[in-house]
Amino acid sequence: MKYPLNKPIKGDGLHCRVCGCTQHNACEEGCSWVKEPAYTYDFMGPLCSACAGTIHDLAYLVIRLAKVLPTLGTVGRKRAGLMLLAAARRAAKRSEEQL
Ligand SMILES: [Zn+2]
Ligand SMILES: [Zn+2]
Repeated sequence: MKYPLNKPIKGDGLHCRVCGCTQHNACEEGCSWVKEPAYTYDFMGPLCSACAGTIHDLAYLVIRLAKVLPTLGTVGRKRAGLMLLAAARRAAKRSEEQL
């Protein structure tokens, strides 16, 4: 699995860490940046609302965190836990919306 899934438009600023959408190349259904804690943003970059709670949102997070987990200190491990919790909440919310 390689993220972002689509190549971001060059020179269009921020791109979604999961799908690669940008300001001028939004997802088909329309999307906006999801508000996340600064430490999440600093570690992983922005996430768009179309990707929030999808299996790719979760997979990206788990892959990134699994790689760095052994190197993290106390604060980093705490933040990793919070990021996983937030991702689980996004996934639960999305599945509820689809019922
Ligand atoms: Zn996205
Ligand atoms: Zn998007």
